[in-house]
Amino acid sequence: MLNFKLSELMHSDIAIKNNINNMADLNSLDNMLNLIFYCLQPIRNLIKKPIIITSGFRCKKVNELIKGALNSQHLVGEAADFKIKGMKPAEIIKIIKNSNIEFDQLINEYNSWVHISYKKGKNRKQILSLG
Ligand SMILES: [Zn+2]
Repeated sequence: MLNFKLSELMHSDIAIKNNINNMADLNSLDNMLNLIFYCLQPIRNLIKKPIIITSGFRCKKVNELIKGALNSQHLVGEAADFKIKGMKPAEIIKIIKNSNIEFDQLINEYNSWVHISYKKGKNRKQILSLG
Protein backbone atom coordinates (compact mmCIF):
# COMPACT_ATOMS: atom_id res chain seq x y z
CA MET A 1 0.00 0.00 0.00
CA LEU A 2 1.18 3.51 -0.81
CA ASN A 3 0.59 6.44 1.50
CA PHE A 4 1.62 9.07 -1.03
CA LYS A 5 0.08 10.66 -4.09
CA LEU A 6 1.97 12.46 -6.83
CA SER A 7 -0.39 15.40 -6.28
CA GLU A 8 0.97 15.74 -2.73
CA LEU A 9 4.43 16.09 -4.17
CA MET A 10 3.30 18.80 -6.58
CA HIS A 11 1.26 20.78 -4.10
CA SER A 12 2.65 24.27 -3.54
CA ASP A 13 0.93 27.10 -1.68
CA ILE A 14 3.19 29.59 -3.43
CA ALA A 15 2.18 28.21 -6.84
CA ILE A 16 -1.51 28.53 -5.96
CA LYS A 17 -1.06 32.02 -4.57
CA ASN A 18 0.74 33.12 -7.74
CA ASN A 19 -1.47 31.22 -10.16
CA ILE A 20 1.39 29.01 -11.36
CA ASN A 21 0.76 25.51 -12.69
CA ASN A 22 3.31 23.47 -10.72
CA MET A 23 2.96 20.40 -12.94
CA ALA A 24 5.89 18.08 -13.38
CA ASP A 25 7.17 16.84 -16.73
CA LEU A 26 7.38 13.10 -17.43
CA ASN A 27 10.98 12.78 -16.32
CA SER A 28 10.23 14.52 -13.01
CA LEU A 29 7.14 12.36 -12.49
CA ASP A 30 9.32 9.29 -12.95
CA ASN A 31 11.83 10.67 -10.42
CA MET A 32 9.01 11.36 -7.93
CA LEU A 33 7.76 7.79 -8.21
CA ASN A 34 11.27 6.59 -7.37
CA LEU A 35 11.44 9.01 -4.45
CA ILE A 36 8.15 7.62 -3.12
CA PHE A 37 9.05 4.01 -3.81
CA TYR A 38 12.61 4.00 -2.46
CA CYS A 39 12.55 6.73 0.20
CA LEU A 40 9.23 8.14 1.37
CA GLN A 41 7.21 4.93 1.59
CA PRO A 42 10.03 2.94 3.27
CA ILE A 43 10.41 5.79 5.82
CA ARG A 44 6.64 5.77 6.38
CA ASN A 45 6.70 2.00 6.88
CA LEU A 46 9.66 2.20 9.23
CA ILE A 47 8.50 5.09 11.44
CA LYS A 48 4.79 4.27 11.17
CA LYS A 49 3.70 7.88 11.47
CA PRO A 50 2.22 10.23 8.86
CA ILE A 51 4.79 12.10 6.79
CA ILE A 52 3.87 15.69 6.04
CA ILE A 53 5.37 16.79 2.72
CA THR A 54 6.09 20.51 2.90
CA SER A 55 7.67 20.77 -0.56
CA GLY A 56 8.21 18.27 -3.35
CA PHE A 57 8.43 19.11 -7.03
CA ARG A 58 9.05 22.76 -7.88
CA CYS A 59 8.74 24.12 -11.39
CA LYS A 60 11.28 26.79 -12.32
CA LYS A 61 8.96 29.69 -11.44
CA VAL A 62 8.13 28.28 -8.00
CA ASN A 63 11.78 27.56 -7.30
CA GLU A 64 12.66 31.15 -8.23
CA LEU A 65 9.93 32.56 -5.99
CA ILE A 66 11.10 30.61 -2.96
CA LYS A 67 14.74 31.41 -3.85
CA GLY A 68 15.68 27.74 -4.12
CA ALA A 69 19.11 26.69 -5.34
CA LEU A 70 19.50 26.93 -9.12
CA ASN A 71 20.44 23.25 -9.32
CA SER A 72 17.91 22.14 -6.70
CA GLN A 73 16.85 18.51 -6.96
CA HIS A 74 13.30 19.73 -6.29
CA LEU A 75 13.31 21.05 -9.89
CA VAL A 76 13.47 17.53 -11.30
CA GLY A 77 11.31 15.74 -8.75
CA GLU A 78 14.26 14.10 -7.03
CA ALA A 79 13.74 15.78 -3.65
CA ALA A 80 11.11 16.33 -0.99
CA ASP A 81 11.03 18.22 2.30
CA PHE A 82 9.00 16.70 5.08
CA LYS A 83 8.11 16.75 8.75
CA ILE A 84 6.78 14.14 11.13
CA LYS A 85 4.65 15.43 13.98
CA GLY A 86 6.34 15.03 17.36
CA MET A 87 9.76 14.21 15.93
CA LYS A 88 12.81 16.39 15.49
CA PRO A 89 14.64 16.32 12.13
CA ALA A 90 17.79 14.96 13.80
CA GLU A 91 15.79 12.09 15.28
CA ILE A 92 14.24 11.21 11.90
CA ILE A 93 17.63 11.37 10.17
CA LYS A 94 19.19 9.06 12.73
CA ILE A 95 16.52 6.42 12.14
CA ILE A 96 16.94 6.63 8.35
CA LYS A 97 20.73 6.53 8.67
CA ASN A 98 20.52 3.32 10.69
CA SER A 99 18.19 1.66 8.19
CA ASN A 100 19.00 0.25 4.76
CA ILE A 101 16.96 2.95 3.02
CA GLU A 102 18.73 4.25 -0.07
CA PHE A 103 19.01 8.04 -0.59
CA ASP A 104 21.15 10.62 -2.31
CA GLN A 105 21.11 13.43 0.25
CA LEU A 106 19.54 13.66 3.66
CA ILE A 107 19.64 17.17 5.07
CA ASN A 108 18.56 18.57 8.41
CA GLU A 109 17.33 22.02 7.31
CA TYR A 110 17.32 24.61 10.08
CA ASN A 111 16.20 21.98 12.60
CA SER A 112 12.73 22.44 11.09
CA TRP A 113 12.34 19.82 8.38
CA VAL A 114 14.14 16.99 6.59
CA HIS A 115 15.18 17.21 2.94
CA ILE A 116 15.61 13.87 1.22
CA SER A 117 16.58 13.15 -2.36
CA TYR A 118 16.92 10.09 -4.52
CA LYS A 119 18.89 9.84 -7.75
CA LYS A 120 18.57 6.46 -9.38
CA GLY A 121 21.95 4.75 -9.74
CA LYS A 122 23.79 7.81 -8.41
CA ASN A 123 22.96 7.94 -4.72
CA ARG A 124 25.74 9.54 -2.69
CA LYS A 125 24.29 8.73 0.75
CA GLN A 126 25.31 12.15 2.03
CA ILE A 127 24.06 13.41 5.37
CA LEU A 128 24.27 17.17 5.88
CA SER A 129 22.98 19.88 8.14
CA LEU A 130 21.94 23.43 7.17
CA GLY A 131 21.47 26.49 9.36
ZN1 LIG B 1 14.50 20.45 0.03
